Amino acid sequence: MATKKLDLIPLYDWGMFTEPRPSVVAGPCSAESEEQVMETARGLKSFGINVFRAGIWKPRTHPGCFEGVGTEGLRWLQKVKKELGLKISTEVASEKHVFECLKFGVDLVWLGARTTANPFLVQEIADALKDTDIPVLVKNPVNPDLDLWIGALERLNRAGIKKLGVIHRGFSTFEKINYRNDPQWQVAIELRSRYPELPFFVDPSHMGGSKDYLEEISQRSLDLGFEGLMIESHCNPSCALSDAKQQLTPEELQDLLENKIKVRDADSDAPEWKENIDQLRAKIDIIDENILYALGSRMKISRQIGEYKKNNNIAILQASRWDAVLAKVIEKGNEYGLSEKFLKDVFNAIHEASVEAQK
Ligand code: PEP
Ligand code: MN
Repeated sequence: MATKKLDLIPLYDWGMFTEPRPSVVAGPCSAESEEQVMETARGLKSFGINVFRAGIWKPRTHPGCFEGVGTEGLRWLQKVKKELGLKISTEVASEKHVFECLKFGVDLVWLGARTTANPFLVQEIADALKDTDIPVLVKNPVNPDLDLWIGALERLNRAGIKKLGVIHRGFSTFEKINYRNDPQWQVAIELRSRYPELPFFVDPSHMGGSKDYLEEISQRSLDLGFEGLMIESHCNPSCALSDAKQQLTPEELQDLLENKIKVRDADSDAPEWKENIDQLRAKIDIIDENILYALGSRMKISRQIGEYKKNNNIAILQASRWDAVLAKVIEKGNEYGLSEKFLKDVFNAIHEASVEAQK
C-alpha cells in the first residue's frame, strides 16, 4: 500500500521536549503508592527529567499479577504535576482510560504494544481522543507488522492527533533470546525512512527486560538518530510490583544518561575527517558495484542452468547441492571474518532469487 502522509507537529513544538537529544520520558513501570510515585518523581526532577511516566492500568500476561492501581493513581500523578511541575504520562488501552486521563490532566498518553495490535481498540481510543491536542505515542505492535503500526498512526492522525510519535520496544518471539523482546531494528529503520518527521522514541527497558542491556540499547538508539528514550525508573527497583529486573533508580538513570551514553554528531565539517570519510566511502561504492556485477553475473548463469534443467527434465531444486554450497560458503566466509548468520542470510536470499529465476 502506498504511504499516506501524516499531518504532524514536530516534537520540539509539543511544549514538553527540548533539544539536545535524547528527549527522555522516565518513571516507574507502575504507580504503586503515593510515596513511591512522589519519591521517584523527585529523584528524576533533580537532574532535569521533565516528563514522568507511570503505568496506572497494567496489561499483564497472567491473571492474578499486579494489574495496576487504577484511577486512584491518577491523583498521585496529578500531585507530581502540581507540586513538582513535571508533565505526566501513562498508557491507555480503552476509551475509559482516555476519559480518565483527560479528566486528571494527563499531558501525554501512549498505546501499549498489545493495544497497537488491535485496530478495534486503536479506533476506540482515537475516537475518544478526537478534538483534544494531547500528544500520543504509539508503541510498536507485539508482532513485527509495520502496516499494523502505521495503521494505528493513521487512525489517530485521522482523529486529529498531530502531536504523534512512536515508541520502539521490540517484538515478541517464541525463541529464547537475551533480550525480553527482539529489536528487529530494520522495522524501525523502515518506519523512519517512510516518515522521517515522525518523532521516534525507543524503550530500552521493555526491549532489554534487564538493566544490563539499557546502555547498549540506548546507545544504539542514539546512533540510529532517534529522538527519545522511554526508560523505567523506580525509587526502590528490587521491591517493584512489576518489571523489577529492568528498572533503574533515578541516580542510576542519571549516571546512564550523563556518563554512559554518548550523542554522536550526525556529521562534521572538519577537513581531515571529510577527506578520510570520502575516501573510505568511495572504496565502499566501488565494492558495491563489484557486488552488483557479481550478483548479476551469477543470476545469468543461474538462468542458463534453469534452461538446461528444463531441457533435461530435471527438477529446479536439489537440496543436497544447496547444502553443500552453503557449507562451503560458510567455511570460506568465516576466513574473511563473516559470521555464519550473516552468510546464511545473504546466501539464502541469493538462492531464493535464483530458484525464482529458474521457474
Ligand atoms: C509499559 O510501558 O509499561 C508497557 C507495558 O510496555 P509494553 O506495551 O511495551 O509491553
Ligand atoms: Mn514495565
